[in-house]
Amino acid sequence: MSKFLNVGFYNCNGLSYSKWDYVISAISSGKFDIIILAETWFVNQKFHESSPYFVVSSKMNQKKMISGRQKNGLMALATPSIRHFMSSSGATEYTITLQLFGLNVLGVYFPPSLSLETIKEYIPDIKISLLIGDINTCFGSRFGQVRNGPTDRVRYFDDLSFDRSMIHIRPETDNDYPDHVFCDSNTSAFLKVYTSSLYNPSDHSMIVCSVQTESEIKRESQYDSFRYNLKDIDDPIIKLKMIESYVFNRDFIIKVLEVMDLYDTNDDVNVYHDLIDYGYFTFSSLIHHICNEVLGVYSVHAAKSSDIPNSNSLKLLDSAKSSSIAAKIFKNSMKMSSKNNKISSRDPILSAVEDVYNYYSDLFKPPTEIVPQSPPIDFLPFSDEINSSNYFSQDSIKTAINGISDSKSAGPDNIHISVLKVFTESTVFLYDLSRFFYNFIKLGLTPTTWNLTQIHPIPKNNSGGTIDNFRPITITSTVRKIFENCLLEYIMTTSLVQVHPSQSGFRKDHSTIAALIVTNDLLFLSPPYIRSNRIFLDLSSAYDTVILDILLDKMRSRKISNQLISILSSLFSQCSSRVSVNGTLTDNFIRYTGLLQGSVLSPLLFNFYINDLACSLAAESHDGIPSALFYADDIQLLPVSKTHAEILLSLVSKWISKNGMKLNIKKSAFIGKSKWELAYNGKTLPTPDSYIYLGLPYTIKGFDLAEYCRSAGEQAKNLVKNLEINGKNWHPTVKLNIYKMFIRSIWEYPAPILNIACIKSMTEPIVEAQIAGLTWVTGVSIFHGKQYRRLISSLCGIESVPDRLEALGIRFCHSLKSASNSNVLINLLDLIRLKGIYTFPRAYVTFKIENLQAYSANYRLISLDMEKYLYEVKLKNLSKTLTISDRIHLIRPESRHPRTLADVSFYLSTKFLITQAIRWRMSSYGFGTDCPICHQKFKFTHVKRCLGILNFDKYFIFSKKKKLEIELKKLIELAPPSLDRNIQ
Ligand SMILES: [Zn+2]
Repeated sequence: MSKFLNVGFYNCNGLSYSKWDYVISAISSGKFDIIILAETWFVNQKFHESSPYFVVSSKMNQKKMISGRQKNGLMALATPSIRHFMSSSGATEYTITLQLFGLNVLGVYFPPSLSLETIKEYIPDIKISLLIGDINTCFGSRFGQVRNGPTDRVRYFDDLSFDRSMIHIRPETDNDYPDHVFCDSNTSAFLKVYTSSLYNPSDHSMIVCSVQTESEIKRESQYDSFRYNLKDIDDPIIKLKMIESYVFNRDFIIKVLEVMDLYDTNDDVNVYHDLIDYGYFTFSSLIHHICNEVLGVYSVHAAKSSDIPNSNSLKLLDSAKSSSIAAKIFKNSMKMSSKNNKISSRDPILSAVEDVYNYYSDLFKPPTEIVPQSPPIDFLPFSDEINSSNYFSQDSIKTAINGISDSKSAGPDNIHISVLKVFTESTVFLYDLSRFFYNFIKLGLTPTTWNLTQIHPIPKNNSGGTIDNFRPITITSTVRKIFENCLLEYIMTTSLVQVHPSQSGFRKDHSTIAALIVTNDLLFLSPPYIRSNRIFLDLSSAYDTVILDILLDKMRSRKISNQLISILSSLFSQCSSRVSVNGTLTDNFIRYTGLLQGSVLSPLLFNFYINDLACSLAAESHDGIPSALFYADDIQLLPVSKTHAEILLSLVSKWISKNGMKLNIKKSAFIGKSKWELAYNGKTLPTPDSYIYLGLPYTIKGFDLAEYCRSAGEQAKNLVKNLEINGKNWHPTVKLNIYKMFIRSIWEYPAPILNIACIKSMTEPIVEAQIAGLTWVTGVSIFHGKQYRRLISSLCGIESVPDRLEALGIRFCHSLKSASNSNVLINLLDLIRLKGIYTFPRAYVTFKIENLQAYSANYRLISLDMEKYLYEVKLKNLSKTLTISDRIHLIRPESRHPRTLADVSFYLSTKFLITQAIRWRMSSYGFGTDCPICHQKFKFTHVKRCLGILNFDKYFIFSKKKKLEIELKKLIELAPPSLDRNIQ
């Protein structure tokens, strides 16, 4: 260990591949902790940002281009272990600032053309520990340099080092470079020129300055993590090898399982737990061993990322797997574009890693409330109340494994879902896993390693900052997820899920839409049933503040079986997490409170936790209209009078203080016709005009759907803008899937409501977003996208917005009709019918949202087979033509993919052919070229007129793709299309 930090600087004159290799070999040589690069010209910026060494880069100035490239460009790289100690990093057009070990490092590039005044603006007022960079200045013979000047710069930097008491460090050997280093006079430092056996492709040398720090610098490689190479996991030979290896190596597992099976005598709990941990360890070790042998590993730090799916997965694009491939590509791209959102420390003394650790340790600190002492659980082996042979059978496990998407990240144990999917083809494996699960259930205990999770902070507003501007995504072990999914099936049959009907969150037969309809419609009932005053309450980090002992206590009083209590206690107590911070990991911190986010069981456990509050509030209702509505931790109170409001608020307050929660008063609201002044624990409730309730803006006049459409449309359009840059070259099928999964879903969530309550002008922003999205998907010009919006929708197999909203409205009616349980909406409808309550026109139920015209008119067909009915309606809608010349009539049913209904054009074997096929369909084939026959500007009509090919569209048949490709290639040879990407 040493106390010297090694900071390199390299003017690379355009960061080409050879220069990048030179830099990477330098930083991985161990001679550098940090390297600052100047004049990168933003070459391959995306590729470089994906490097694990990347820290930050300067802001690109879009206006400044020379001969087709960007000017300037600074970038800081750091080793993973040094990154661990960084407090913050930042950049401007000409500077990079790094904070670590209490030092402020300033890397600069000041081009010769920059005025001295501008340079002065970029030198910050803070204390500079180290100023390193290319200042395009030479200091003459007194500094061992031949060149001298410019004079004003020389004078300025001389003055600067004097005023800031910095030393201008002279390198060990004299040279004539314009790269210089100034160091705080209290810090000792020396400067060298880096030499290596590799050829230096730049005309500048790389320099390295060693600066003394207060603390010892630990340089360990433990921060590097590894991943299995999953690229070829779908290869049948690889699959077979993995399964064979499992069968061949499982002797040890059989022995362990035999020992576990025999443990059914009353014994010490700790012995049980050790046994389970040991058993699970042998099992997971074998999986790791197989992955290591068959798949191979790669280091995350050495990996290069790519956003283009490999040829193997291109074949999968018209298979059922296509959406998970698209999801993976999309998520990676989002991760990349947020890579510049670094987490900074809130305290310059601490590194970002330490600060994040403190932040989370504090968030999950032991509860201060007096907590009931849980009685110890009898650790007799349980009689099998859970019926594990059913819920943890091989079939159930297989279903659970296949139910998890391939796009999900591997948990802290690094076992990826696609690995387990391979093993589902082996009954031996399923048999073993089933036996492990059976033993966990029998003993009421689960492996300790399942309680370790990893947190990935995601920036709240797409910009970096300190940790409080990030929200956590928690990733748990995949095997735990499978166990939980099986257990969930059982829990659904217990009284744990029988919570009050006013709770709509995460429940079968309940929905957000039902809760939204009731919220709106209670404003439009005849008196006395109308509720024109609402209180919205926001609990701060509700899931994270649940006190586990209180939860278990509530379970005991509701007579939940000891076996289930024991398992849940094992899954949720003594959890710990580590956080991924700027590419490195914090230590583990203990979560003393909270339900584990990322666990599929957490939502229903929370519903159970808050259920006594739901019941006590419901008891305050006297006319059948609920006095409170719950959606998980979202609470809405519906008081009839001010006194009633106060009673409800005091019930909430009592419950909150007893259950370790906190009310976030700033995010709570009172919205009502009566101008009551309401307070919660002495603090006045805010009275905004609008409150976002379950995603929709609620006002005194009901939901403001115009505002909703506007903001959802804008959000979707912004995402499309981002994708036009980051996802420009993706495969069209990938784009189409991303459109459905991540763009359209932005506005579809309240679809049944939009379907009945929106007038045409309101949905305009959504329609625009759809046009923008499909323009991106098809890769046509914006002009064509607007002009032929119906044609491109039809090509993509995407219905128009109104058609789609109606289809989702029908789905909603159907789900409500088949709901076996009552929910808030069904209860309200019953009440309205029973008491003959009048509903005003603005109530959604006035329009029979629960029994749409389009639904009831076709009820027989829909109840026979809804999917078939909707499919046929969709096909009909997609084929609608307006005029005889409408090219939509050429897209016949047999042209379309049988499942997605997109045109065959999307499913050709190369991107080039797809583009040309889409251009043909759009009648823009050959734009920008001259006709080889008549030598006039080529138009698609020349195919018939000059080339004599009649009705080319007849080749567009999905089942005969190969034939279409052959004909298309012939056409391309006869009349080569323009290769200019911009003419489409
Ligand atoms: Zn022609």
